[in-house]
Amino acid sequence: MMTKTEKMKVRAWRIKGESYSEIAEKLNVTFGSVRSYCYRNGMSDAEMKNYSSCIICGKPVEWSGKGLRRMYCSQKCRGIYRRATDTCSKTTYRHVCQNCGKEFETLSNKKQRFCSRACFYNSRRGVVA
Ligand SMILES: [Zn+2]
Ligand SMILES: [Zn+2]
Repeated sequence: MMTKTEKMKVRAWRIKGESYSEIAEKLNVTFGSVRSYCYRNGMSDAEMKNYSSCIICGKPVEWSGKGLRRMYCSQKCRGIYRRATDTCSKTTYRHVCQNCGKEFETLSNKKQRFCSRACFYNSRRGVVA
């Protein structure tokens, strides 16, 4: 069994023209499982010839037949894919909790001021942890 993220990657790589064996190697799964997944989901070699649909929502994507296939129907789907597969280039923000003074990190919230919900509520109530 492959995870949701792995399946998403399989679709992306198939659209880029990678073979079952290349994908199997990258995901560290068997050739057979990649191939059968591709066959069951319309990504066999024959079907990939004219393939172009959004890897996230499956909507057809316009593709002239030349150059690189587009993998996303919209910026939104592109964002979803990148968030799901991008694990190494996340920006972390460092903060000091304004209630308890503990240092903490967040991945997305530049302005977070408290390390936890408890600290947030305590600070509003004027209680110091
Ligand atoms: Zn889409
Ligand atoms: Zn705190």
